Amino acid sequence: MALIVQKYGGSSVADAEGILRVAKRVVDTRRAGHDVVVAVSAMGDTTDELLDLAAHVAPVPAPRELDMLLSSGERISMALLAMAINSLGFEARSFTGSQAGMITDAHHGSARIVDVTPVRLREALDEGAVVIVAGFQGFNRDTRDITTLGRGGSDTTAVALAAALNAEVCEIYSDVDGIYTADPRVVPRARKMDRISSEEMLELAANGAKVLYIRAVEFARRHGVLIHARSSFSSNEGTLVINELLSEKLRAEGDPMEEPIVAGVATDLSHAKITIVGVPDVPGKAADIFTIVAKAGANVDMIVQNVSAAATGRADISFTLPMADATLAINALIASQAEVGFESLQHDDGIGKLSVVGAGMRTNAGVSAKLFEALSDAGINIEMISTSEIRISVVMRGDKLPEAARVVHTAYGLDSEIDAAVHGGTGR
Ligand code: ADP
Ligand code: ASP
Ligand code: MG
Repeated sequence: MALIVQKYGGSSVADAEGILRVAKRVVDTRRAGHDVVVAVSAMGDTTDELLDLAAHVAPVPAPRELDMLLSSGERISMALLAMAINSLGFEARSFTGSQAGMITDAHHGSARIVDVTPVRLREALDEGAVVIVAGFQGFNRDTRDITTLGRGGSDTTAVALAAALNAEVCEIYSDVDGIYTADPRVVPRARKMDRISSEEMLELAANGAKVLYIRAVEFARRHGVLIHARSSFSSNEGTLVINELLSEKLRAEGDPMEEPIVAGVATDLSHAKITIVGVPDVPGKAADIFTIVAKAGANVDMIVQNVSAAATGRADISFTLPMADATLAINALIASQAEVGFESLQHDDGIGKLSVVGAGMRTNAGVSAKLFEALSDAGINIEMISTSEIRISVVMRGDKLPEAARVVHTAYGLDSEIDAAVHGGTGR
């Protein structure tokens, strides 16, 4: 008998029918003789709706109160799921993040898990109950306040529980059959992967593939948790996210993981571009600018500085950052305009980022040429480029992003013969 952690996302528990479907699945796992711990997300688009509501009553809601509000979404679904399982004749008990021992730092809105003390969960399991835990939330010991783990954070709850309880596998259920070579809502011909390395999954998640939350993948990698991403709408096998150790073990056992040069394509519409025009081309200006931006709490992604015009001795610096951070960064920069000495500032929230990810890029030439050629053939203009060891990203107009993803997916030979199945959800 194994202990299995299952996480059901918002699209899986969007309504009463979904909750009953999930309850049946949990019960099936229990019937097969396993101990089951479930992490559950808020129903459907509840978290977005709560955020909209908050925005209507306060332009900048207090982070503590926002976490109180948002954590309520998961409390609704955990209790309903426990009731549904009970009604099928099995005992289930739900726990909030703090009852489950999810201890985090005090960073409201994106708290990190620092400890898991699942005493009550162990007791409930020992007594034969199915355990349901509210995802996405924790508790800080110093402030004694409720925290949330960042959007998509129920994935992290599940992985942290799997690590703390030494689960055999952490199954993450959503509305698609697994990890695809691209978002199947954007690229219908995306292909499901049987396996992906955690290294590649991290890059995809960091660049817009929200099918798994980046911190959950990081946590799993660090603690050796096996993730199985699959659909709650079908019984198909999903995708295993294999950490390096496991991948080596499989290789040693003569089961070589197929290593295509490009694993997948990720798309991201959540960033904005800020261009600072006419920055004096003298040492220290970039340091000034990015210190101001960092102090405003913004996470900078790509940076490009153009060559300064000889006549003016000034250069332009463009960078991208999450749209949600843009206002704070712009206000901080404008407040320091005289001190830094730049001429003006432009804000562009119509950009999209396309990233091509693959561990095989390390040892293969010509990967970026193929990307640029595919975009050029489609007449799509590239505005910024950045690379890492296993990734190439390009910024373009956001409305070109879906087409770009499709032509690039085709160019790398990733297209499947059939369209991918997307079962539910709104993709919000
Ligand atoms: P949940 O609500 O269950 O947490 P999410 O909406 O967070 O589910 O994640 C599932 C969605 O992720 C899919 O519906 C799909 O549109 C999107 N997605 C983005 N990139 C990928 C990818 N590479 N493979 C599969 N799904 C992806
Ligand atoms: N409900 C939270 C969100 O929408 C957490 C999650 O679903 O993982 O971000
Ligand atoms: Mg999610």
